[in-house]
Amino acid sequence: MSDCLFCKIIAGEIPSVCLYQDDAIYVFKDIAPKAEVHLLVVPKQHIATLNELKLLDETVIARLMLQLPELAAAQGIPQGYRTIINCGKEGGQVVFHLHIHLLGGKNLPGF
Ligand code: AMP
Ligand code: ZN
Repeated sequence: MSDCLFCKIIAGEIPSVCLYQDDAIYVFKDIAPKAEVHLLVVPKQHIATLNELKLLDETVIARLMLQLPELAAAQGIPQGYRTIINCGKEGGQVVFHLHIHLLGGKNLPGF
């Protein structure tokens, strides 16, 4: 998607602080962190929202989820963290390329 912010980040056209990537996943620091640790875990494949995911390969979401414990451990928060997927405008989604927020660190507020 040529007009997608996260596709441009994945392609290296917009800078990001990348912490991990493989053939399916790109992980980078959120530009406006809401917690001490705030990463975005993103499929390299453009999928707009969670609602589109069911039409595609289910292994994509599994790959994202299975990476989370390792990412949390690398960030020093293996004992606890929060994951969020906002879906759609009414669900608070601003960037329409599926992503998991990985949040953690000191003073993570109650939900
Ligand atoms: P969401 O509201 O779930 O769509 O989350 C989008 C997230 O992308 C927000 O937490 C933003 O702070 C973050 N974001 C927006 N632009 C950038 C960027 N250029 N680099 C890193 N994170 C970004
Ligand atoms: Zn995209």
